[in-house]
Amino acid sequence: MYKGRFAPSPTGPLHFGSLVAALASFLDARYNQGTWQVRLDDIDPPRHDRSSFQTIPDCLEQHGLFWDNDLLLQSRRKETHEFYISKLRRAGRIFTCTCTRTTLGPLGQCQSDCPEKRHGQGSIRLHLSDATEPGFTDLVLGPQIPTVMPKNFVMKRRDGLIAYQLATAVDDIDEGYTHIIRGSDLLDSTFRQMAIHEALGKLSPRYGHLPLVTDSLGNKLSKQAGAQAVDETRPVANLRLALDFLNQTSPPSAAKSVGDVLNFATEHWRLNQLNQG
Ligand SMILES: [Zn+2]
Repeated sequence: MYKGRFAPSPTGPLHFGSLVAALASFLDARYNQGTWQVRLDDIDPPRHDRSSFQTIPDCLEQHGLFWDNDLLLQSRRKETHEFYISKLRRAGRIFTCTCTRTTLGPLGQCQSDCPEKRHGQGSIRLHLSDATEPGFTDLVLGPQIPTVMPKNFVMKRRDGLIAYQLATAVDDIDEGYTHIIRGSDLLDSTFRQMAIHEALGKLSPRYGHLPLVTDSLGNKLSKQAGAQAVDETRPVANLRLALDFLNQTSPPSAAKSVGDVLNFATEHWRLNQLNQG
């Protein structure tokens, strides 16, 4: 049974790029008669914009992107995250790193003897086994291997906050998602999250990475770079633009409501058409 999700961080209102990711993951789930959930990845409070806990779900609803079951909050799953960290510890896959930012090597990896020492305070890191050969076949992009991959990376930060990679890797398998459709900006994260799944002895979901929406200068749209919020007063026009970006068949002009557009788009959804623009 297909189970998909959209998992934005609550760092600001949805911009066009995040609407595209939400729509694509929604349509792929609906086309495959699956379920679709929304999870706010809210484990990094300093980066949060409180109002987006409200504006993101509201914006999705305005666009007819209704999720199944309750809205999920990643921050409520800390016990699960800790549980999996203890599993990694028992499996001998993590170590405590006391390096400072200046002593870490390229890609932010620990390259000192931290794995051999048994000291207390520091960040907790996963080390990849030599047998790990990261790579997978992306549902949109085809075969993928990482250009660079660190030998170890953070699972839990020195300040006690769970790292995004661990939380997301754990939540995605623990919630049983089968398909993850998201922006290509997360491709590097996917290799790391799959390494965490492997270390836990779990199968990863299938992944599909969407082309990135860029501004007129070719820069990725991002909340950090102040991308404009989606104009919620014109949801039908926004959906049409997003479908066009996703290289999908345009709904007929007779499709005037959000529901009409989504029904047509679900019926005509072609994930493999994305890369043939
Ligand atoms: Zn270290």
